[in-house]
Amino acid sequence: MARYTEAVCRYCRRDNTKLFLKGERCYTDKCAFERRGYPPGQHPHIRRKFSDYGTQLREKQKVKRIYGVLEKQFRIYFQTAFRKKGITGENLLCLLESRLDNVVYRLGLAGSRAEARQLVRHRHFQVNGRTVDIPSYQVRTGDRIQVREKSRKLHPITEALETVDRRSIPGWLELDKDQFAGQATASPSREDISMSIDEDLIVAFYTR
Ligand code: SF4
Repeated sequence: MARYTEAVCRYCRRDNTKLFLKGERCYTDKCAFERRGYPPGQHPHIRRKFSDYGTQLREKQKVKRIYGVLEKQFRIYFQTAFRKKGITGENLLCLLESRLDNVVYRLGLAGSRAEARQLVRHRHFQVNGRTVDIPSYQVRTGDRIQVREKSRKLHPITEALETVDRRSIPGWLELDKDQFAGQATASPSREDISMSIDEDLIVAFYTR
């Protein structure tokens, strides 16, 4: 599977916001954005002015990086969101938020979305009692996500659960820490996504 291989902290510094791509490190003072909160490159202090197109492109790239989705798949998400009833930008974010790898991360069963994606791929999770190894699987209301019995002692999972209190679990998800499980009690809404994202810019990018 294709994936980003660049040093991901550069993305946070370039987008001037924390994207939380490196798990536990993002919450410590080792975070590159906290230590060097200026853009990467040779002349970081030269302020660049972006065109409308540039601003829209940057926002789209930012959201792709947050959720670890590549261009082709992101475009498919946009087309699906566009066809659905409601506000396209919000639909898009809700589709991304409902991905299984994101749900695993948001429940605190993995330290980052990248880690969650790998754990799902390696068949450590079940949805409604059946093993699912597709990170893009769309979680629906009522779905129960659980760590497989034999995977409950895996270090990334136990470590993530130990530090789960640092993160806020969104209102549409419920965690049952003792059972290594969680449930989607509703669909995600725009208010559940606390990261600073301007989805209108992404809609403008694709409909220009
Ligand atoms: Fe971004 Fe996390 Fe790296 Fe900090 S540690 S710069 S939040 S990816």
